[in-house]
Amino acid sequence: MREQRTFDKIIEVKNVTKTFGETTVIDDINLSIRRGQFVTLLGPSGCGKTTLLRMIAGFTTPTDGTIFIEGQNVTDMPPYKRPVNTVFQKYALFPHLNVFKNVAFGLKLKRIEDDKVNARGEKQKTMRKFTKEEIAEKVNRALKLVGLEDYGHRDVNSLSGGQQQRVAIARALVCEPKVLLLDEPLGALDLKMRKEMQIELMKMHRELGITFIYVTHDQEEALTMSDVVVVLNDGVIQQIGTPKQVYDEPANAFVADFIGESNVISGTMLKDFDVSFLGAEFVCEDKGFAKNEKVDLVIRPEDIKLLPETAAEGQLLGTVISTVFKGTWYEMEIMANDYEFTVQSTVEAKPGQNVKMLIEPDGIHIMKKLRTVNEFEGEIDGENSVYICGGSFEVDTNLEKGTAVKVLVPFDGVELTDDEDDGVIGANVTHVLYKGSYYQVQIYTDTDEDFYIDTTDEWDIGDRVGVIIDKSKVTLEVIEEESEKDDKE
Ligand code: ATP
Repeated sequence: MREQRTFDKIIEVKNVTKTFGETTVIDDINLSIRRGQFVTLLGPSGCGKTTLLRMIAGFTTPTDGTIFIEGQNVTDMPPYKRPVNTVFQKYALFPHLNVFKNVAFGLKLKRIEDDKVNARGEKQKTMRKFTKEEIAEKVNRALKLVGLEDYGHRDVNSLSGGQQQRVAIARALVCEPKVLLLDEPLGALDLKMRKEMQIELMKMHRELGITFIYVTHDQEEALTMSDVVVVLNDGVIQQIGTPKQVYDEPANAFVADFIGESNVISGTMLKDFDVSFLGAEFVCEDKGFAKNEKVDLVIRPEDIKLLPETAAEGQLLGTVISTVFKGTWYEMEIMANDYEFTVQSTVEAKPGQNVKMLIEPDGIHIMKKLRTVNEFEGEIDGENSVYICGGSFEVDTNLEKGTAVKVLVPFDGVELTDDEDDGVIGANVTHVLYKGSYYQVQIYTDTDEDFYIDTTDEWDIGDRVGVIIDKSKVTLEVIEEESEKDDKE
């Protein structure tokens, strides 16, 4: 039986997980998309955006969970039966067909319902193909939509990249899908063409009134084009909101850092509306945190007001390190209480100059701290030794060899070394977040695990590292077998 769901939600993704082998690429995601919205899936390379889009399109089947389109469970339905169409980054046009025939291709294969009157004068439902005239009308309408009405006869190989992408969009639109899925469709275009196509896609979205789901790793593109931005990292949704919400009120340090220039700093919530960071106390607009709860906070570069060194106002005194003119404003690096702020202001301050920095309550955005402990499943593989992520580490334990354990390693319990042979695990640095007095470094191990490390050392993305774990900071928890649990119950 068809499951009934609220129809305003054209797409619902319910507890969807996708694993490839041992790797979880999409981790228990829930997402509702309203009819007619322009929704962007945004996140760094490898975060699972394309995989999520492909599951909505039907090219990939979830390992777990359900996908609904217009209330119908489509989880196992093949792509061609779904009311969606996809535009890929690589246009995948047929090189031997001209523009018109490329766009018409899908229509020629399609069969539609038709009412036929039989010999007894009764109406009968039959299936038929589109007529030549119907195809011509639909193709011409789609070509007009993408601004290529005079290009039907052209060889696709003679078109520019931007024009080829328009043909691909026309080909997806010609079948009149209810949802258009776009997977980094502008990725192969140069910057100027990209900007032009962004405006055209927004116009098409307005004119067609259908739902667009757009994948990109470009935050500016996402903020410019979307009604709703879904920020993904590591297969987990970090935040869903309007462009303004994800920019102004990032849910956590990852979103703050990924969406635009920002200063992300660790602080302590002293009480409601009162936060301390970098040794000073500030009034903020946030409440509901525990007393003395550790938090992350973000201050956008344009929310810091620069005042003369002698001003009575201003909470921090800083020294300008560098100043770059950016056309309508100056971008400055300013050192204050051991933190290097990025500041944007129409007022210029010269390198070496001391300035007072004023941060108003609405310029401070408080966020819950992301987790601070790495969690792995491992096994005791010898006396005082545990095996995780492809390596054996020394620990203090009486547990027997072969015991399955959860291994908890706090972010500050790990040291990285640039001589891989000094560490037990080999990994690459994938993300670096400056948090004021330290860096939070994300590494990806050779066994496909993410590790987070708080360190005062500077690392670059792509650095090859070895991992050393401080055994005094590791906690082990025995993992009970399902059958043991059952016995207890
Ligand atoms: P990008 O912007 O680089 O395309 P993305 O966010 O779209 O990244 P996905 O393409 O969804 O990321 O891939 C997420 C992870 O899943 C990657 O680590 C990728 O290598 C892995 N992955 C994707 N498809 C497969 C597959 N068929 N088999 C194994 N691993 C896969």
